[in-house]
Amino acid sequence: VADNSHEIHSKEAPKSKQPVNDTLSLNEARFKSRESYLQKRQQEKLQQLRQEINELESQKPALTRHQLQELQRKQRIFEAIESKRDKTSEKNEYYIPQDYVSEHGAIDKKRKRELLKPTYASAPPSENRQRYDNKWEQDQLVKGKDQLNFVPSMDEMAVVNKDNYEYVFDELQFIDFDTDETLEGDDNINDDSVQLKLNSIKETKESLPVFKYRTEFLKAVEDNQVVIIVGETGSGKTTQLPQYLYEAGYSKDKITGKPKIIACTQPRRVAAMSVAKRVAQEMDVPLGKKVGYTIRFEDNTNEQTIIKYMTDGMLLREFLTNPELDKYSCIMIDEAHERTLSTEIILSLLKDIILHRKDLKLLIASATINADKFSTFFNGAPIFSIPGRRFPVDIHYTKNPEANYVQAAITTIFQIHTTQELPGDILVFLTGQDEIELMELSLQEAISDLKLQNQLLVNSIYANLPAELQARIFEPTPPNCRKIILATNIAETSITIDGIKFVIDPGYVKQNVYNPVTGMESLVVVPCSRASANQRAGRAGRLGPGKCFRMYTKWSFYNELDLNPVPEILRVNLTGVVLLLLSLGVNDLLHFDFMDPPSTDSIIKSLELLYSLGALNSKGQLTKTGRIMVLFPLDAMFSKSLITSLKLGVLHDTLSILSMLSESGNLFYRPKDKREQADKTRGAFSEESGDHLTLLNIYDTWVNNGYSVQWCEDNFVQYKTLKRVRDIRNQLSSLCDKVGFKGSCQKWEGKADKNEVILRALVSGFFSNVVRLSKMGDCYRKLKRNQPLFLHPSSSMHNVKPPPKLLMYHELVLTSKEFMRNVTRVKPEWVKEFGLHYFSSKDLE
Ligand code: ADP
Ligand code: MG
Repeated sequence: VADNSHEIHSKEAPKSKQPVNDTLSLNEARFKSRESYLQKRQQEKLQQLRQEINELESQKPALTRHQLQELQRKQRIFEAIESKRDKTSEKNEYYIPQDYVSEHGAIDKKRKRELLKPTYASAPPSENRQRYDNKWEQDQLVKGKDQLNFVPSMDEMAVVNKDNYEYVFDELQFIDFDTDETLEGDDNINDDSVQLKLNSIKETKESLPVFKYRTEFLKAVEDNQVVIIVGETGSGKTTQLPQYLYEAGYSKDKITGKPKIIACTQPRRVAAMSVAKRVAQEMDVPLGKKVGYTIRFEDNTNEQTIIKYMTDGMLLREFLTNPELDKYSCIMIDEAHERTLSTEIILSLLKDIILHRKDLKLLIASATINADKFSTFFNGAPIFSIPGRRFPVDIHYTKNPEANYVQAAITTIFQIHTTQELPGDILVFLTGQDEIELMELSLQEAISDLKLQNQLLVNSIYANLPAELQARIFEPTPPNCRKIILATNIAETSITIDGIKFVIDPGYVKQNVYNPVTGMESLVVVPCSRASANQRAGRAGRLGPGKCFRMYTKWSFYNELDLNPVPEILRVNLTGVVLLLLSLGVNDLLHFDFMDPPSTDSIIKSLELLYSLGALNSKGQLTKTGRIMVLFPLDAMFSKSLITSLKLGVLHDTLSILSMLSESGNLFYRPKDKREQADKTRGAFSEESGDHLTLLNIYDTWVNNGYSVQWCEDNFVQYKTLKRVRDIRNQLSSLCDKVGFKGSCQKWEGKADKNEVILRALVSGFFSNVVRLSKMGDCYRKLKRNQPLFLHPSSSMHNVKPPPKLLMYHELVLTSKEFMRNVTRVKPEWVKEFGLHYFSSKDLE
């Protein structure tokens, strides 16, 4: 198979083209206002226009009608720009270039007139075009500034839409793209392999590239215990191969005839759900019986299940209860190239198991990258390649770095829509749910302002999206319409959406990054790798030649993006995995057969924390507490808090808080017209001690209101988030029952202040996240380390005066600074009570 990703990589990077000091680094650009670029560009454009106008005017009597129109058009643009510079002017209007209208019919005359309505055009730009301001965050930051005396900038929150953009048909606002690169397609494309409309499921199945290789594939599995499968995304690996195995009889034990399961792991739960659903549909069986899925907090399988899609994390946990995995006949580790932590540990464990379970078949499926590495790890296992079917994709880079990539992406969408023919859907890669929701809001507003509702359809896909809505992205686009899909990197390889012709790639990904030296883990938006960027681009070439718009410069691509993503094992906190491996009896972690061994530092840090949490004794052996902790599909710190809360009699409330914490990022919403009211309502839930009890308060109030949807609406709380919290809580609570915990339903009856007891239980797990106000009072610092940390503006502690001396945070979010999200004040004696082994006495002074 031609490996296209390589071709691009091996091209000589155009290092000399753009001197370093003349360009913003990707991250700098992200935090810098786009305004200066625009201004500079406007200046240049104005100069150029003036010249052109002068030229045309000088030949005026001799101009053709067309040239005359052109002159008028240029004059209009010129005026528009001039007036934009003078904000009080009323001439400010959306300019629709005549040629776009006539050529592509994107906008008809009536609509155009509506667009140019004076009401819209004459209001001060700052008011009518502020699509989504983060005024609230801004206010909070300003208040915080008074109090903590640090200088925040709005960019810290990575805000969208702070500039007054005019998306639209003013070509001046269009982004300049460079176009001289193409991601080459595969050689074996022929016209009959392109089937835009396939009616029956059977036809679809048979049109997939894997179908031709069905027999060879089954033979390869028959002859080898381990097979590495490589194929372009969308070739049918995930949906078809497990079905082929089933059809070939792998769902029964070859000797005893007992039913066995064919499992397929996915790094992401949405993918597991969506693929299982699709396969059930293809096999014409109800989901959850013969075909099912298992993800954390949700098991949609039963005793009949023979094809099971599951997250890699869930399979990893199965080693605890079923160390030989003897329920399974075949295990397909899908998306292995992503090298998630769970996938890698599973591979190491399986490498051992297959030695004595000769009947177990192991398939490792991966996109084109990394295949050799897996083959080497499994002692030269054969690589089965499925020839791809991808058309060439033109790569467009921006000529200038784009500071606000969400804005740039929106502009590009309109740019595509007005200049490119239908059909052709657009896929935009964003970093997470928040960003997707923000962008969706801006986009919908712009679309409705421009009256394009019938032409542009916005859908999104991310991990927490309810299943009903997920299915929407697969619905065919109506005729004369363009679908825009806002997705996280789930659409990079794990989910294939038909109909995509254009990809917009801002070039970022959100990752959990752990620093073993400081012991801090935070969520960070970082540039994605070149391999990822090429995967993303490839999504545009499934139907025919496509286009990919990268919201960064070519220089950035070659100089600022890593070649491949860093395996998760090298960058995340290993505490959970270390605990799991220890309970599986893997005691010599330093010599465990990792594909890429993590740093010794990182393992030692995890052992230290586990020891302080009481999961290990001083000999490094698992304690009873440790054995209970590992039974929960939670971080070690969470599990420890649960165990303590049981002992202290506050399990009921702690369960609610821990469930809320896992979802708290998307709890509130602020409708544009009711921001103040929303903020006030939100403020009313605040508990004096901080965010943890505030979360509890919200959850309990919702419960007391009968889990009401209306209550959520009245209080600007996301119903779907609370519903999920409730599900998680139920799952955890029944797990507590299984483990033998009593009291998950019990209410507090003790004499002490209940809230204080709850907080103590939390500190018992999270003591390593305790921070102290710095001497200057301008930030917080960890007790052990010196890195400055700041309160996230969403915290209820943000405006408290005087600032509390000692706080415990739940998580860190790194934008331009480390922000602490979900914060509560704690007492020094609690930290001493539980964190004694973690801190030295000097730390606790
Ligand atoms: P691979 O794993 O090789 O990337 P998949 O097996 O995931 O490929 O997908 C094969 C094809 O199945 C896709 O091209 C798409 O057309 C179709 N498909 C997959 N999931 C769905 C779904 N949920 N709805 C509709 N079609 C789907
Ligand atoms: Mg797949």
